[in-house]
Amino acid sequence: MADKQNITVLGSTGSIGVSTLDVIARHPDLFQVVALTAHSQVDKLFSQCQQFKPVFAVLLDADAAQQLQSKIMAAGLATEVLHGVEALERVSSLPQVDSVMAAIVGAAGLRPSLAAARAGKKILLANKETLVMSGRVFMDAVRESGSELLPIDSEHNAIFQSLPRDFGRGLKAVGVTRILLTASGGPFRSQPLSALENVTPAQACAHPNWSMGRKISVDSASMMNKGLEVIEAHWLFDAPADQIQVVVHPQSVIHSMVEYADGSVLAQLGNPDMRTPIAYALGFPERIHAGVSPLDLFKIARLDFEAPDMTRFRCLDLAYQALRCGGTAPAVLNAANEVAVAAFLDEKLPFLGIPSVIEHALEEISAMPVNCLEDVQQADRLAREIAIQHIQSQGKSGSSSFTLHASLNS
Ligand code: NAD
Ligand code: MG
Repeated sequence: MADKQNITVLGSTGSIGVSTLDVIARHPDLFQVVALTAHSQVDKLFSQCQQFKPVFAVLLDADAAQQLQSKIMAAGLATEVLHGVEALERVSSLPQVDSVMAAIVGAAGLRPSLAAARAGKKILLANKETLVMSGRVFMDAVRESGSELLPIDSEHNAIFQSLPRDFGRGLKAVGVTRILLTASGGPFRSQPLSALENVTPAQACAHPNWSMGRKISVDSASMMNKGLEVIEAHWLFDAPADQIQVVVHPQSVIHSMVEYADGSVLAQLGNPDMRTPIAYALGFPERIHAGVSPLDLFKIARLDFEAPDMTRFRCLDLAYQALRCGGTAPAVLNAANEVAVAAFLDEKLPFLGIPSVIEHALEEISAMPVNCLEDVQQADRLAREIAIQHIQSQGKSGSSSFTLHASLNS
């Protein structure tokens, strides 16, 4: 490779962000970090700035940015510190940036991901919420600008690897009959439903195979993560809901599969370590080292599969419903889920209350067509309000103090 790839890492202090920098650090000859961003983690972002010497560091929070600025100056670094959503959009669309790792969690990732798409960047998309909320707007922007879109979510990365390169002609045209989206089933796969009533945030975040941020960990426990991924697969691969089959596979070794008209099924396997899909996307179309240990098939010995239980995992069912309904319904699903997960993590909502909040929001808000970003933002705001009201009306005493953590940053 001649020139280094100039990259912005959005959400660099998170689980995906840290794994991305781990892979980048293994290849100083291939990558140059232009910008690093975080919500408010000053110390972590500062130490990343010391190591990677980016041109820009962005914090959402103005006070946090001030603190980072002082540290940067005291250390004699040349990094320019910015803050706010516009700054996130700016570092996603700078002319000198080739690639953007979109690894902010939740709806907050939408505007910067979209800015990267509009600017025609190579996008390494971890932020699945972008596609769930505004799949049409985002995919249109990708097509219009000629962006290269590489999925980071392990399942979608596996599907991408198992599809022919020209899958954009249409799944039917390339002989694909189904997408088989694997799911670990999370920490509560084999527990009786009654046992889930009193689970704590710590239990929900203890994933058997993957180490991830707290929001996606709760989503994995409720299987909403798989629901969001069904919608994500719909947009990435232009696959109708009926062609996306969720397969529970507790070992998380097969990361997903593609079934073809002739009966062939292609899969991508590997240890459950996000550095594999990240390295695949960073190096694409070449393969680079990721620091991941080789798969030991003899140690794994067996692979199991089961059908998902939609009555037990209501969130997965709700996601399919929202996808089939279309328009703003997936944005409503996503916003209500973010509010419900934040309330659960705050111990203001029981685990089994999460699907109830989402179902209520979907019932209350009629789906509207999505023509522009504002349609999505409006649905998002309304769904958050309705979800918060619902949690407060159901809540124990004290829940009126519930504040909104996850937000759209708009
Ligand atoms: P995380 O919570 O560990 O990190 C989130 C990052 O986003 C942090 O850097 C945080 O500072 C930043 N952030 C949070 N709120 C923000 C806001 N309002 N504005 C700007 N920045 C903000 O999350 P994660 O587990 O790394 O997940 C990131 C994304 O990747 C999510 O969309 C998730 O669904 C997706 N993903 C994660 C994994 C995984 O293994 N962790 C796997 C597949 C997909
Ligand atoms: Mg995934």
